[in-house]
Amino acid sequence: MSVITESATCAPTRTDARSTGPGALLPVVGAATRVPLIDGSTRTYANLDSAASAPALEAVAARVTEVLPLYASVHRGAGYLSQVSTALYEASRHTIERFVGAREDDLAIITRNTTDALNLLAGCVPPGGKVLVLDVEHHANLLPWQRLNATVLPFEDTVAGTLEALARELATTSYALVATTGASNVTGEALPIDDVVRLAHDAGARVVVDGAQLVPHRGFSLAETGADYVAFSGHKTYAPFGAGALVGRRDWLDEGTPYLAGGGAVKHVRVDRTLWTTAPARHEAGSPNVIGAIALAEACETLAALPDGALEAHERELRLLLVGGLVAIDGVEVVRIWADSVEPIGVVTFNVAGHDPGLVAAYLAAEHGIGVRDGKFCAHPLLARLGVPAGAVRASIGVGTDAETVDRLLVGVRAYLADGPTATYEVVDGCWTVQNDPRPLLELHGLSALAGTAAACA
Ligand code: PMP
Repeated sequence: MSVITESATCAPTRTDARSTGPGALLPVVGAATRVPLIDGSTRTYANLDSAASAPALEAVAARVTEVLPLYASVHRGAGYLSQVSTALYEASRHTIERFVGAREDDLAIITRNTTDALNLLAGCVPPGGKVLVLDVEHHANLLPWQRLNATVLPFEDTVAGTLEALARELATTSYALVATTGASNVTGEALPIDDVVRLAHDAGARVVVDGAQLVPHRGFSLAETGADYVAFSGHKTYAPFGAGALVGRRDWLDEGTPYLAGGGAVKHVRVDRTLWTTAPARHEAGSPNVIGAIALAEACETLAALPDGALEAHERELRLLLVGGLVAIDGVEVVRIWADSVEPIGVVTFNVAGHDPGLVAAYLAAEHGIGVRDGKFCAHPLLARLGVPAGAVRASIGVGTDAETVDRLLVGVRAYLADGPTATYEVVDGCWTVQNDPRPLLELHGLSALAGTAAACA
């Protein structure tokens, strides 16, 4: 398996990204934030890292500000504000369920994020149930299943070939669950969910969709796709307040191992024995993230209120500008899993041949004010199969991205190849950094670290 350029399938007809292009689809907090460059100037931050964590929607920030004065303990408080907060928390759960097309008998468990949600589900797979997963997955949708001795099926060169391999495997062994990505965090691609669901259901297996990248970028419905579970994260869905969700079929969740042992998850406790309650409370022991859930619900409502197809059209156009611009640069290779995949989401991973992705990313940040991600994107098996085991650079698009931001990346990559970096870069603790970096980390924004030194690279 190797790097495939997208020029054949995805090149835009327009070559000059600067001339026209969409603006941001929704207002996000911090869109005008300026960041320092190493030459002492500042530029508006070009945030092309939404796939890692997306900025908050302005609507989400406004909602959080609105509800904070009403915030109080939930579920067991007798006070008026406890009642209000409980009502807001439970209403948020139902908004989140509706947003992902939950069926009548499905339910949402509020989690910390996708990783949390998938680990929770792993504790609910009926004992002895086998799990099947492809090697394209983010570690969050691989390691919880690896713990259950899952079968990891190698992907084939094409979507069609991979679906055939899936069908063959499902015909030979009986599985309880197929775990599949809704959209790869490396390439934005996915298998068609409907086909995966059909093959799995025909073989008697359920399907969980890792929706971490899909849900913020596309409309998704459990009812329409037939998928049994979906997991996703608030911080990627423009609601970075620490909540995520697992939504899906009630029976496994009612019976499964309580995710956390503690208050709120029980019907009755004796010192030697506990009678657990049913889902969702069964898996939400401890004080829940009320504000996080409300923030996530607001993001869901704001995205759901967009005109039909607007999200998809925005991403399609920006992705075409980005990929078309990148493949037109000599030496730049865009990574793909499948030659025949359709409509990837706005996540694009590339390499500049012969150049360390960490250096390229550090240069784009220090000399152009651009935020991209480099590394292996928590998908080591996939990157190894794609022939880029040392990693790559990833640019990702969100509702706050506009054509000008995409163009800035293209300008930056071209400048890197034409002129090279101005500063001297070195690897410190495995991370590319500017030697004698003059950029203030916090002072520019009137902030100071509470304790210790803030790390520039985690
Ligand atoms: N799955 C995919 C496809 C992801 O992109 C990510 C985050 N990069 C995760 C799962 C894990 O999400 P979180 O870190 O919010 O748990």
